[in-house]
Amino acid sequence: MRLDRFLAETTELTRSLAKKALQRGEVTLNGVVTKQAATKVGEDDRVEWDGKPLALVGLRYVMLHKPTEVECSARRGLYPRAVDLIELPKAERLQTVGRLDVDTTGLVLLTDDGQWAHRVTSPRRRCAKVYRATLAEPLTGDALRAAIARFEEGLLLDGEEKPTLPAELVMRSDRDAELTLYEGRYHQVKRMFAAIGNHVTALHRESVGPLTLGSLGPGQWRELRPDEVAAFD
Ligand code: URA
Repeated sequence: MRLDRFLAETTELTRSLAKKALQRGEVTLNGVVTKQAATKVGEDDRVEWDGKPLALVGLRYVMLHKPTEVECSARRGLYPRAVDLIELPKAERLQTVGRLDVDTTGLVLLTDDGQWAHRVTSPRRRCAKVYRATLAEPLTGDALRAAIARFEEGLLLDGEEKPTLPAELVMRSDRDAELTLYEGRYHQVKRMFAAIGNHVTALHRESVGPLTLGSLGPGQWRELRPDEVAAFD
């Protein structure tokens, strides 16, 4: 990799600021001041900027307890973005793995590993996502039995051609639903409950595959352990 790109990858410098730092003689390669932006950096080379050693970061994997009024979007909008809460260098390179609505809370994964993100979200991999939905209307008795059957069979959502994959519904109380999905369509939980004549007033994602939030509070995040990353292989 070229030295200016290496600096841009490992510091807050842009490529053009990296070139200026090089020209000012602030960068050493294996202990020798190097001003040439095009110099190649290999795996065993030691690069320092202002005396600080620099190292490429590997792929990153993060879980966030998303509060409401935070967007899972790459673009800046009305609300802070999920990546804005992650205090890691170059956090803006992370992307959310799927999305939660701005008013939904709970477990969001972020990574810069596109293949891993695909493994987590691909409906073919049947990765379970568990949601807790607070319903406007109580769901009990025959209506509940019918809802369980419809969610289990799969239902056709407005404007879609394929029915939803079988999903599992368990009521924790009359209005507190636990729904397990194996895919992630736009507003899926809200649209599924709307399809059976109910309305979701609050939504929280408890888990994605084997991952749960544990003791992470709203707005808190942590990097995943290697075994947690490997759980989606
Ligand atoms: N389903 C929804 O309706 N909203 C979410 O945020 C996630 C799943």
